[in-house]
Amino acid sequence: MENSGPTIDIESPCQACGACCSYSQNWPRFTTEDDAELDLIPENFVNERLSGMRCDGDRCSALSGKVGVATSCTIYAVRPEVCRTCMPGDAECAMARRRHGLASVVVPALSRDP
Ligand code: SF4
Ligand code: SF4
Repeated sequence: MENSGPTIDIESPCQACGACCSYSQNWPRFTTEDDAELDLIPENFVNERLSGMRCDGDRCSALSGKVGVATSCTIYAVRPEVCRTCMPGDAECAMARRRHGLASVVVPALSRDP
């Protein structure tokens, strides 16, 4: 990992974070979802081009709460694939958290030396 700053070491940091959901309007885009899966996402959360989640600035419209304090995805069960692949402690997570001034997450399985 490229991070050298302070770290936190907890198992489920996402509910006190939300940084990757508030990183870029290009982030919560649709990729491998089929039409049936996309139909499950309420249309008021989908952008005009139907290419991803609607964002307010960099923040996904489906994100509830305050980034870095307490957040949740209001469409968690039907969220896009890209949202499922961002894992606490990976490079995208670290980048998003850094943007919001949050310490990097160290997940035990990812932090072990080889
Ligand atoms: S994956 Fe990382 S950046 Fe995204 S909510 Fe979880 S801890 Fe935050
Ligand atoms: S759909 Fe949910 S998990 Fe995905 S960016 Fe939006 S708030 Fe985050």
